[in-house]
Amino acid sequence: MTNNKNGLDPGSDSNDLTVWFEILDPIRARTYDDARVRDDYGNIYFVGTGKSRAHAGRMGTRPDCIPEGVRAYWAHDLWNGPVHPPRCAVCLVKHPVTQVIE
Ligand SMILES: [Zn+2]
Repeated sequence: MTNNKNGLDPGSDSNDLTVWFEILDPIRARTYDDARVRDDYGNIYFVGTGKSRAHAGRMGTRPDCIPEGVRAYWAHDLWNGPVHPPRCAVCLVKHPVTQVIE
């Protein structure tokens, strides 16, 4: 006995949701001497890890759970597909992921 309806669940909208990436720790370029970047880039270094968090959304509709003023961008990645950064807990409650491919 199983609750699986042949793997088809037309009532779920998780399958056509895509991912918004919230940038938690942007990568920034700095210079060792706080001067302008030299022509040979010899004084440049980078800070930040580029860490991000995945939210469920649609193109042109920024999810409400991404704080105002935080950098975020939309991507074609499917919410229900293999997403690399950790998923937002709020979005996961609203749009449970039915198939996680690691
Ligand atoms: Zn979210």
